[in-house]
Amino acid sequence: MLEITNLHVSVEGKEILRGIDLVVNAGEVHAVMGPNGSGKSTLAQVLAGRDSYTVTAGGVRYDGRDLLGLSPEARAREGIFLAFQYPVEIPGVANIYLLKAALNAQRLHRGLPELDAVDFLALVRDQLKRVGMDEALLYRPVNQGFSGGEKKRNEILQMAVLQPRLAILDETDSGLDIDALKAVAAGIEAMRRPDRAIILVTHYQRLLDYVVPDRVHVLAQGRIARSGGPELARELERRGYAWVEAGAAGAD
Ligand code: ADP
Ligand code: MG
Ligand code: MG
Repeated sequence: MLEITNLHVSVEGKEILRGIDLVVNAGEVHAVMGPNGSGKSTLAQVLAGRDSYTVTAGGVRYDGRDLLGLSPEARAREGIFLAFQYPVEIPGVANIYLLKAALNAQRLHRGLPELDAVDFLALVRDQLKRVGMDEALLYRPVNQGFSGGEKKRNEILQMAVLQPRLAILDETDSGLDIDALKAVAAGIEAMRRPDRAIILVTHYQRLLDYVVPDRVHVLAQGRIARSGGPELARELERRGYAWVEAGAAGAD
C-alpha cells in the first residue's frame, strides 16, 4: 500500500529525514518509534502533504501511484488520515459539523449519497460509545477547551467516522491517563482490517501493550536505525534509545 524509498526531507534548509526506506502492506500495523526530534512527526506530516517540508530526494508510492504529487486534500480523499500530535482547535465550527462535512465530502467523491442528519447521528453515536467520548463534545467547537484526553479521543472518533485506508497516528497516546489510553487503543484495534494499514508514531511502548504492531521501526537521526517485531519495542523500553542511536552510528 505504501512504499517509501530513500526519502530525504528538509525543513527550512535543514535536513531532517536522511534516507527513509519503508514498506507498509495492507492489513499491517507499523509502529514508528524514536527519541524526541528524530523526525517522526516530519515523516507523518510529509505523508499527509503538509507544506513547509521539502522532499529533496527519494519518493513515496501509495497503491503504486506517486503520492508526493497529490495535494493534501487529494490524499485525504484517497483515504489517508493523519491524527496530529497537537490537534488543532477550530473556533466557531461545531465538532459534529466538521465530522459530517468531512464524511459527506468523502462519500460524494466516491459517488455515494450524502448522509442526512439522522443517519449521521446514528453512525457517530455508535462510534462515540466505542471511544468512550461524551456526546456533548459533538456540539462544542472542534477541540476548543477539550482536555488532552478528549482531543485524542476525538482524533480516534474522526478516524472511525472516516474509515481511512491508511491511518497515521502521531503520538495519539501521549499525555493520556490509563483509561483514555485503553479507550484510544481499543479504538485503534477496532480499525484493523485486511484492507487497511495503520502507522502508529509513538515515543513509548505503553500503547503497544494494547495495540500489538506487526513491525516496529526506530528512527534515529533521520533514518530507520532498526526494524523488528513487537519485541523490539519492549527491548527499547529496557535499553533506551541511546542503544539504537549508538547502533545507527555504527558502534552497536
Ligand atoms: P519527532 O516527532 O521525532 O520528535 P520532529 O519531526 O518533530 O521530531 O522534528 C525533527 C527535527 O526537525 C527537530 O530537530 C525539529 O526541531 C525539526 N523541525 C521540525 N519541524 C520544523 C519546522 N517547521 N521548522 C524548523 N525545524 C523543524
Ligand atoms: Mg516530539
Ligand atoms: Mg513528533
